[in-house]
Amino acid sequence: MGSAQAATHNIASNRIVSINPATGVPLGDVPDMGAEQVGAAVARARVAQRDWGKLDVGERCRRVRRFSVELMKRAEKMIDLIVAEGGKTPVEALNTEVGLVADLTNYFCKHAPRMLAPERIGLHLLKHRTSAIHYVPRGVVGIIAPWNFPFSIPMGEVIMALIAGNGVVLKPSEITPLIGLEAREVYLAAGLPPDLFQVVTGRGKTGAALIDSGIQYCVFTGSVATGQKVAAACGERLIPCTMELGGKAPAIVCADADLERTAAAITWGGFANSGQICCSVERVYAHESVHDELVERIVGNVEKLRQGDPASGEVDVGAMTWDRQIDNVDTLVQSAVASGAVARTGGARPGGPGLFYPPTVLTNCTQAMDVMRKEIFGPVVPIMRVSSEAEAVELANDSHLGLLAYVFTKDREKGKRMARQVEAGTVMINDVLNTYGCPETPWGGVKMSGFGRTHSVIGLRDLCEIRHVNVDRFAAKKELWYYPYSRKTYRLMLRAFKLLMGNKRFSL
Ligand code: NDP
Repeated sequence: MGSAQAATHNIASNRIVSINPATGVPLGDVPDMGAEQVGAAVARARVAQRDWGKLDVGERCRRVRRFSVELMKRAEKMIDLIVAEGGKTPVEALNTEVGLVADLTNYFCKHAPRMLAPERIGLHLLKHRTSAIHYVPRGVVGIIAPWNFPFSIPMGEVIMALIAGNGVVLKPSEITPLIGLEAREVYLAAGLPPDLFQVVTGRGKTGAALIDSGIQYCVFTGSVATGQKVAAACGERLIPCTMELGGKAPAIVCADADLERTAAAITWGGFANSGQICCSVERVYAHESVHDELVERIVGNVEKLRQGDPASGEVDVGAMTWDRQIDNVDTLVQSAVASGAVARTGGARPGGPGLFYPPTVLTNCTQAMDVMRKEIFGPVVPIMRVSSEAEAVELANDSHLGLLAYVFTKDREKGKRMARQVEAGTVMINDVLNTYGCPETPWGGVKMSGFGRTHSVIGLRDLCEIRHVNVDRFAAKKELWYYPYSRKTYRLMLRAFKLLMGNKRFSL
């Protein structure tokens, strides 16, 4: 099945075939668009944006809100497609894709008018003038998306960019293009301007063409390797961008952790969406005093997980989405086992159809193993024994990535202290994954996990230009420091500076 999928994805034609990863059955095909089609899509979005950007934020929100209404009307259809094209379970397709986007849409439609309202800045020196920040649309935003959350990642960003007053052109992953196209159908059914939001399908070069098509902002979500190319292309053109890249989330399990909760959270955080989440639990550092019991609990949980075609019945773990990814996962597992790791569950790819890798728990792991250092992006949880919490923090920070990190302890104050030491964009204490579903909190990483933030007021404002407007409060013929210069004004100003700068209370 793996090679069949690879062959079909790489057909030498101008079409891309989408394949159900659980069954190997083709679902449809889409055009592999070139620079000309991408340029035309951006041009159409630019024209539509001119009117859209002139609407006030409240009116834009009122119109965009119809998207979530229409989405919930068609929820089952969208969920079925996400299950079929992405391989995830219906519960995940609802919670982490369709429901998440409906909620994000409603949240920003309610709060964006306040978040994007002009902000007054009091001037401490030029008190006869006043300043304000206005959040104005950037123009056309290009969104380049991965396959692991083929609906919620791009559509969260699309909705926020539209509310901010932009036109949007989305390039979905070549692995999951049908979901991007169906998302636009929902958008059209909501009665929003057809040209304002476009979807361009294709491979990597279609994404590259999008960056080269005159967009004003780029939101990229994907791997570090592609992110480096995209950031370089944006840099050459001085296009500002947000980079949401890979993760290697550590879970630090302290000696005082609630082991039932911790094991349940790590099991879900490691295997939800078959581990293909940028914030999946990718390595566990367990204090030696709780290590053995934690392992037994996680292994016990994992042995109960039901894996299979997510469309065929009640399963907990669906298929992986991409055949190349399943090969990467197996390589990392086999190399870890060859270096002394023990596969307590799973550990070998079964035969048969479908992209299924069994949920795998590895123990006896060391920091030197690739499985503890490289992004796995699959259903594998490697566990390492540590002798202190300080050692766990040091090992957690010994990574080029820093997206999410998790700390498990009953002492929340200690957890917060540890969170300040861990290098990550978000640190969750006693929980995993869930903040992606909180539209009010910022999402993004440090180090090679990227820069910029999506979601939250920060992410919304990043999709706007900042226009600073400075205005006089009353009429005056001229300022003291205008021409002509004279010794008299010099002496006057010097006296004023000495007086003000020497006065500790001089401020706003
Ligand atoms: P890729 O980097 O392979 O692809 C991401 C997107 O970029 C795809 O649409 C891809 O197109 C496109 N692309 C490829 N080459 C170029 C290019 N030269 N110029 C412009 N666009 C290009 O990532 P994956 O799709 O494999 O996604 C998995 C990765 O995404 C993981 O590393 C994961 O951690 C990360 N990720 C990060 C998240 C975060 O929030 N930080 C969230 C989710 C995932 P095509 O698919 O057609 O090749």
